[in-house]
Amino acid sequence: MEQINTEYLIIGSGLAGLRAAIELSRAGKRPTIVTKSKIEDANTFYAQGGAAAVDPARVETGNDDYQSHVDNTLTAGAGLCDPAVVDTFVKRAFPDAIKFLIDAGVDFTRNDGSYPYHLGQEGGHDHPRVFCVGDYTGQAIEETLAEIVRQDPNITVLENHTAINLITHNQFADFESDIDRCLGAYVLDRETGKVRTFSADTTILATGGVGRAFLYTSNPENATGDGIAMAYRAGAVIANMEFFQFHPTVLYEANPENPSERRFLLTEAFRGEETGAILTLTRDSLEDFVLRYDPRGSHATRDIVARAIDTEIKKRGIQHVWLNATPAATGKSPEYIKAHFPKIYAHCLSRGIDITKEPMPAIPAAHYTCGGIIVDTFGRTTLNGLYAIGETSYTGLMGANRLASNSLPEAALYGKLAVEHALDNSVQHGERLRPWQYGNIDKAADQATLNQFWDNTRRTMMTLCGIDRNEERLRGCLGALDGFDTTVDDIYQDFHPTHEIIELRNLLLVSKLITDSALSRKESRGGHFRSDFPDPDDRYNFPTLTHRDVGIYRLR
Ligand SMILES: Cc1cc2nc3c(=O)[nH]c(=O)nc-3n(C[C@H](O)[C@H](O)[C@H](O)COP(=O)(O)OP(=O)(O)OC[C@H]3O[C@@H](n4cnc5c(N)ncnc54)[C@H](O)[C@@H]3O)c2cc1C
Repeated sequence: MEQINTEYLIIGSGLAGLRAAIELSRAGKRPTIVTKSKIEDANTFYAQGGAAAVDPARVETGNDDYQSHVDNTLTAGAGLCDPAVVDTFVKRAFPDAIKFLIDAGVDFTRNDGSYPYHLGQEGGHDHPRVFCVGDYTGQAIEETLAEIVRQDPNITVLENHTAINLITHNQFADFESDIDRCLGAYVLDRETGKVRTFSADTTILATGGVGRAFLYTSNPENATGDGIAMAYRAGAVIANMEFFQFHPTVLYEANPENPSERRFLLTEAFRGEETGAILTLTRDSLEDFVLRYDPRGSHATRDIVARAIDTEIKKRGIQHVWLNATPAATGKSPEYIKAHFPKIYAHCLSRGIDITKEPMPAIPAAHYTCGGIIVDTFGRTTLNGLYAIGETSYTGLMGANRLASNSLPEAALYGKLAVEHALDNSVQHGERLRPWQYGNIDKAADQATLNQFWDNTRRTMMTLCGIDRNEERLRGCLGALDGFDTTVDDIYQDFHPTHEIIELRNLLLVSKLITDSALSRKESRGGHFRSDFPDPDDRYNFPTLTHRDVGIYRLR
């Protein structure tokens, strides 16, 4: 097939990718976005809570201050954040992320008081500073930016295009070079089943996280870690994959047909002081069982609550616990719950649960990928010509755990920073790239076989490398994943590439990176808990780095 040449290739159409495309267009460039399914099929769409930022106007009136947002972020990051990155992020989050979104037309929820916007205060924040659009902030952002991009004649969007591999001098190009460089990507056109070769001077990965590595996740289907896997295979350095944020409460729905479907998030605000919903072990109980683990009970931090639920589920062999927001448990009226959580109320009602009258079945689920492709303050990866932005990257902002609502502004900010840098540093390579080499078997692999590996991988990860890890479980996990990987790789090499095999191969690779990193970190901190090493250990005060040719290492 003909080679497609583009100066800027963006892979992914969540907030990070859309921001980058809009900035490039404003600079007079003509970027191409390839995205796996519809533009809006992205984690961004599902964000409920909002985007955290300190508005200078609130600093002036003494209602917030930059240092507090810095401190809150560093505390969540448990000693692994890069303080300079945190500082820059906090100063730029309002002008370069929130202001951009407001100007783009995102209608953040307003307030009647002297400050125009309603600001939420989420766990870990000392002040209200979370800009939201009701409880569907991500949807409002994604739809607003997607519309701008669709109307922009400078931006080409190719939906149903799944990137398979990055092309570098030393992989898939016809000559080797001492200094390797990304030259574009091979991309599967899902409609024709053909692989297209994209040559790009600059490639920007904006492919999101890898929540689908775990059986229970709040993430949609596309979150299979493709960008991290592609960058790793191409030789970029990956950081901190062991740190994964599990959300304590998503709605448990038994679905034997599809046990691993996306789980509906029951926002943390539910368990906040204001609402006071509690977690119980049985349907009729009004005893907050988390009090057995922490004096704050169900209001404790995400990691403690998630671990308490996970322990009880494993100990008792139960499927889920209960989250009770009824007047009997919280003292709040049904009207209050309906007014503050309209989307959750409506969703549960559609599943036959009236949350003002009965408790919701709840489980913890994989929510946010704290690690990713390591980048500098311009979003540059360690591979020339390749940038990574948003959840697929590791900037140093999140450290060992993410502070709630920092990820949307990070994605928006780095979309801009990467473009600013790339505009001045794009190098035209103009090389003829090798066309895609198809496998020997000219048909797709058997779907039932792929489903089996898909399911096994996610169950294995949830049980052995999930919330509560130890040496034995992690070794078992790695052994199982290695076994799956050998077969899946054979299928990938031999058969015609399909969307499903591309995702499965990436999911397996990233699952192995998570497990390997978790094995190497013999301590507990942030989003990584090992019951055999339950305390933090200063010897691990450094990010975990991993590279294709070197394996795991830490720079002290
Ligand atoms: C339920 C839920 C609630 C959340 N709530 C909040 C919140 O309140 N506040 C907050 O700050 N954060 C929240 N988050 C996290 C936040 O939504 C994400 O971190 C952020 O939206 C990531 O944006 P992104 O652009 O990096 O990636 P995404 O929005 O995930 O976009 C990734 C894009 O890449 C595409 N893609 C992936 N692989 C390929 C490939 N191989 N080829 C082509 N395209 C590909 C996908 O299709 C998608 O378009 C939440 C997340 C979830 C799931």
